[in-house]
Amino acid sequence: MFNLILFGPPGSGKGTQSEKLMARYGLKHLSTGDLLRHEISRQTALGLEAKNFMDKGQLVPDEVVIGMISSALDENPQAKGFLFDGFPRTSAQAEALDRLLDLKKASIGVMLALDVSEEELVKRLVKRGETSGRSDDNNEQVIRARIIEYRSKTAMVADYYQQFEKVVMVKGEGTIDEIFDALCAEIDKRI
Ligand code: ADP
Repeated sequence: MFNLILFGPPGSGKGTQSEKLMARYGLKHLSTGDLLRHEISRQTALGLEAKNFMDKGQLVPDEVVIGMISSALDENPQAKGFLFDGFPRTSAQAEALDRLLDLKKASIGVMLALDVSEEELVKRLVKRGETSGRSDDNNEQVIRARIIEYRSKTAMVADYYQQFEKVVMVKGEGTIDEIFDALCAEIDKRI
């Protein structure tokens, strides 16, 4: 089993690259953002709770997303590996993920961290907001709040994996295919 974390700030291209990586490597894509938006569209209790945080650009509480990931792992016993996108986003989530994978005698193979300048991030998110229908992309204040959450709670998750020498930085600016090729080169070294 090969498990991969695609890491980076909001707007760094995790969703776009995940689609391509999942097609190439046959990994099961687990995006907590997508899972949460699915809960919101079904108007479940979990979705309604999460929406309050997401609309403000804040992180959803750890126990909510950890529970979602735990269920998703259990629901996919045949997966040849998982591609985590937008998770873990806090140190507590990273520790919980290690424990969940441990129970399955699995671990994280590598964290690929997309590096994109803040100016470029805001530009991309504002542009995505014009077509994505995502309310959190529609408002520059919410976009900036998400980047602040990233800096204060999420960026340090890379340090957690760095202690196991599992982090590789990849340039997240350039064409989609250039970035994809750089990600694949790193995966191919390890798979
Ligand atoms: P982006 O990374 O572009 O902001 P996502 O779809 O990954 O988009 O996340 C959208 C929102 O969902 C986040 O701003 C946050 O409120 C919530 N969210 C997603 N993943 C997590 C997570 N692992 N922990 C807490 N909140 C999360």
